[in-house]
Amino acid sequence: MAEQQRIAVVGAGLAGLAAALDLKDAGASVELFERSRLLGGRATSFEIDGREVDNGQHVFLACCTEFVAFARRVGMEHVLHLQDRFDALVLARDGTSGHLRASDLPAPFHLLASFARYPHLSLGGKLRVGRALVSALLSKARPAAAADDETFEDWLERTGQNAQTRRAFWDPFFIPALNAPFGRVSRADATFVLSTAFLSEPGAARFGFSTVPLAHLAQAAADRLDAVRLASPVVGVTLDRARNRPIVLHLLGDRSIGDFDGVVLAVPPRALGKLLGDARPYGIENLDSFEPYPIVDVHLWHDGPTIEVDFAAALDSPLQWIFEKTPGYLCCSFSAADEYLRLSTGELEALAWREVCSFVPALRGTKLLSTAVTRNPDATYLPRAGATRPSQTTAEPAVVIAGGWTDTGGWPDTMESAVRSGAYAARALQRSLAARPERAPTATPLPSRAS
Ligand SMILES: Cc1cc2nc3c(=O)[nH]c(=O)nc-3n(C[C@H](O)[C@H](O)[C@H](O)COP(=O)(O)OP(=O)(O)OC[C@H]3O[C@@H](n4cnc5c(N)ncnc54)[C@H](O)[C@@H]3O)c2cc1C
Repeated sequence: MAEQQRIAVVGAGLAGLAAALDLKDAGASVELFERSRLLGGRATSFEIDGREVDNGQHVFLACCTEFVAFARRVGMEHVLHLQDRFDALVLARDGTSGHLRASDLPAPFHLLASFARYPHLSLGGKLRVGRALVSALLSKARPAAAADDETFEDWLERTGQNAQTRRAFWDPFFIPALNAPFGRVSRADATFVLSTAFLSEPGAARFGFSTVPLAHLAQAAADRLDAVRLASPVVGVTLDRARNRPIVLHLLGDRSIGDFDGVVLAVPPRALGKLLGDARPYGIENLDSFEPYPIVDVHLWHDGPTIEVDFAAALDSPLQWIFEKTPGYLCCSFSAADEYLRLSTGELEALAWREVCSFVPALRGTKLLSTAVTRNPDATYLPRAGATRPSQTTAEPAVVIAGGWTDTGGWPDTMESAVRSGAYAARALQRSLAARPERAPTATPLPSRAS
């Protein structure tokens, strides 16, 4: 009988967990190594003053099919809330509110009726947005039509977008989706999101979110693995080719754990660079070209009434979206939040509450009971314009990489991309281990020391 393969997964974010589950299901023994005390990586939760909060509001869209499948697989699909149809409330400071809502018409006509009634755009503005959407549809049909180094900012200009259309349409939906200034995002990446969410099928852009703290999803996945080692930073990986099982992990404090058949390195780009020392022998290029972009979330507990919606966009506000987690608990997210990262906790709390009260009149005069701020300077990673994202395979067949930032066919660094990358990495590792010539087991295996 073939010996069970022993795989190490480094990084307990969604990418590492997805890869780990696939490898486990394929029959391997899987051990997970995570630097932090928490599971879930950038999609996690922790206790603040006795309350479990997410490190920041996470949403997914119905087109994020692999993320939903991941939740289903770990028995947690029931905790995901997904809209029956796409419906987004967009609030202006003067009290005007608009809905963008999918109808029963096929895409891309499903938003036409609500768009025609959308109060935040003039007829001219609507025509401008319409022109851009047609251009996106055409470039989907003819992908080579535009230059590869075109940014989203360039594209918005080229398609005639102005201050009004940016404020009322592009900013509220695309700043959170891309989490970077438009001049930093490639046209191809932005129009991938536009096409996948809004132009492909009517249900694709339905919003979804977890109704339980995010770390619960990660925990459900980790529970299926053979070993989970938290607070265990991996500082290096080496291959001892003389051995039957060649992978050796080096942990902080001069400890090594050997005898792995393969390893999935599911860590962010900079951590990967440090861990490998020199990534080029692995055929991994461009790690230095990835830049982190921040998200700041302000959590507000108040004694006012429910705001009656799960979430709403706020026009002309630094907090793009307000989410009601439960009645009395709001989470406000500031995406592409460079300038807000530097504000003090008190300033952020005051700013968020002021903004919320200005958009939701029912909360004026109510009392703020408690607050918390979560800052994530490295919330998402984006390669510099023109740089390519690496695939999950490396020049070393027993080493694969995963992460929302790796190449997943156009998905930006999101939960969906993370899960997809994990699946690709697991598949690549299984393929290369299956093709490996059998070696004799070693007489003296390296000592295996858990941290
Ligand atoms: C506040 C916030 C809001 C977001 N909102 C959304 C959203 O609405 N929708 C969406 O889809 N995405 C959102 N994202 C992005 C999403 O969370 C990430 O794209 C996704 O979780 C990335 O998963 P990953 O597994 O690729 O990476 P990570 O989650 O970063 O996982 C990598 C793991 O590796 C560990 N690690 C690093 N170095 C080492 C080492 N040397 N040894 C061992 N372990 C190591 C890290 O501690 C981490 O746990 C948001 C992110 C943040 C922070």
